[in-house]
Amino acid sequence: MRINLFLSCTKCAARHQNYRTSRAKVQQKDAKLVLNKYCKFCRKTQKHKEEIIK
Ligand SMILES: [Zn+2]
Repeated sequence: MRINLFLSCTKCAARHQNYRTSRAKVQQKDAKLVLNKYCKFCRKTQKHKEEIIK
């Protein structure tokens, strides 16, 4: 089973949700997915943090 989530830019004030992805449901509680992705609003690569879609 997988859960859907957004990857939102951690540097944008608006926290743009630039990417949509999914991951396995089983994960440690404090283990948040953080990926380096290109943010078109910052116009550079930034850290993106997961936000679970409810
Ligand atoms: Zn950004």
